[in-house]
Amino acid sequence: MKFGTKVIHAGLEPDLATGAIMTPIYQTSTYVQDGVGNHKGYEYSRTLNPTRHALEKNLAAIENGKFGACFGSGLAAIDCVIKMLNPGDEVISTNDLYGGSYRIFTTIFEKYGIKFHFVPMHNTTAIKEKINANTKLIWVETPTNPMMNIIDIKTITGIAKKNNILLAVDNTFATPYLQNPLDLGADIVMHSVTKYLGGHSDVVMGALVVNNEKVAKEIYRIQNSSGAVCGPQDAFLVLRGIKTLHLRMQRHCENGKIIAEYLAAHPKVENVYWPGLPSHPNHDIAKAQMKDFGGMVSFSLKGNKLEDALNIVKKVKLFALAESLGGVESLIGHPATMTHAAIPKADREETGIVDSLIRLSVGVEDADDLLTDLSNALN
Ligand SMILES: *Cc1c(COP(=O)(O)O)cnc(C)c1O
Repeated sequence: MKFGTKVIHAGLEPDLATGAIMTPIYQTSTYVQDGVGNHKGYEYSRTLNPTRHALEKNLAAIENGKFGACFGSGLAAIDCVIKMLNPGDEVISTNDLYGGSYRIFTTIFEKYGIKFHFVPMHNTTAIKEKINANTKLIWVETPTNPMMNIIDIKTITGIAKKNNILLAVDNTFATPYLQNPLDLGADIVMHSVTKYLGGHSDVVMGALVVNNEKVAKEIYRIQNSSGAVCGPQDAFLVLRGIKTLHLRMQRHCENGKIIAEYLAAHPKVENVYWPGLPSHPNHDIAKAQMKDFGGMVSFSLKGNKLEDALNIVKKVKLFALAESLGGVESLIGHPATMTHAAIPKADREETGIVDSLIRLSVGVEDADDLLTDLSNALN
């Protein structure tokens, strides 16, 4: 099946009991057994629930993987990955990563004796320098949030394989529509399903997809043991959201291009960060690795004044001032005071998250209305 068919059909079957074409919401905690141990594959909903199971199969298929696992949030999915490690193990991570990922690494897992190195991943020497016998995981986020840096997954795969290190990719921004890290050699794909996969800003959820059965078994063991699963209602909503993923992403990309080009030509704008612009430093990698360039656009202002940025995010009317991204509606955010406030100022400025940086999650509205809104706020 091709992508647009998989999002609608993969892993899904009409309900055996009724023929319902849509996966029912199995709102149940437990399942009656005919005799001890004689059940239909479901015993208890923390371990497995039919609605969640359908979603896990669907997600695995659209990421070209064999095994999917869903969690109560993206961070719960990350939590599961790091729990595969042991005290003393080391992780090399993208340096400009999602603020919440940075927080769970540094404030939760460092306490348990896992060591994290944050490096700029374009620089393969910087990665190699941190590798030692304890290095067990490389954590890549691409495109990065909010600077839209693109990391060459194939290059990192080479380094990881050579050193026998697991490679995990946070594919939240790209979605499986734009890029499939497993095809590029990654071992684990992670999603904040909350964003584009759900797509309608009504669910918080996370997911992991892998090909290797041993890794999958570990993931399912931790999913069941730690218990950070999602509920069946949310699984249903995401199954529904994914059915239009390809349609939504196409429009997100089209609108993203229109907005990025508008901003790039605007006299008050200093820099525009969108991987589809030929001026973007990683444009060539993005072109090779991604199908299109997505709907996330960041930009900074001439003069770099905090108050100017705060003014703009206040003045827009269609773009809603909110954290999160990936929904059908356009959102605007100010990373330095919102999503990335947990990262020390010096560290965040080093990665480009300056005071005037604004991040847009360009939605699927009519582009003309979005342009009018931005131009009113900027001018
Ligand atoms: C939102 C997000 C996360 C965390 O996911 P939650 O669902 O909010 O827990 C992780 N990585 C990226 C890139 C994100 O955008």
